[in-house]
Amino acid sequence: MDPEPRATFSRIGGHVALDLINTVEWRLSDERREEDLRHYSDAVRWARQLELISADEAESLSSPAAQASPEAEQELTQIIALREALYAALFTAGGSQPVVEHYREAIGHADLVRHDDDWMWTLPVDLSLPRRRIALAAIDLMTRSDLSHLSRCQDAECGWVFLDTSPRSNRRWCVSSDCGNRNRVREYYARARSIRAGEKA
Ligand SMILES: [Zn+2]
Repeated sequence: MDPEPRATFSRIGGHVALDLINTVEWRLSDERREEDLRHYSDAVRWARQLELISADEAESLSSPAAQASPEAEQELTQIIALREALYAALFTAGGSQPVVEHYREAIGHADLVRHDDDWMWTLPVDLSLPRRRIALAAIDLMTRSDLSHLSRCQDAECGWVFLDTSPRSNRRWCVSSDCGNRNRVREYYARARSIRAGEKA
């Protein structure tokens, strides 16, 4: 049975493209790994919560006809492929090429439209909109000057990623009250055990 869909998605990444990577929970554990984007509707809800698409756009992508179309399923597959390509490029020395290809495809469908003094890439509102906005965001992240702050939670199984903007660049955990607490408790008991073992010796 499918577990309940996640109602609220995490936004601890500091950049929307990193928050996308964090739609996999327990990424580093084969047993616990959990996918938050199981249906196209999850991807639309995620993109809306992370403000990649507007409420109107989300509504038009959520019509029963849109959600039931085979293209919706294909879009979800491609979003996940893009997410995994981005993770590979940033964290496992995978090449940037697959992400660049998604970007080129997105830009190929975009018009540069002027709103008062601002120019904005404007994409057609169709099932590909979430993926194309993600592709633009991914390249925005990869071309940032502060990518040296890219970091991954130090929990052995978590795998969530973030931009470490702490003053001393020493953030260890995705969420201090979650992975941080669990690991601090574990380290405490490991220390206590080794002290007791030392006393017995
Ligand atoms: Zn974590």
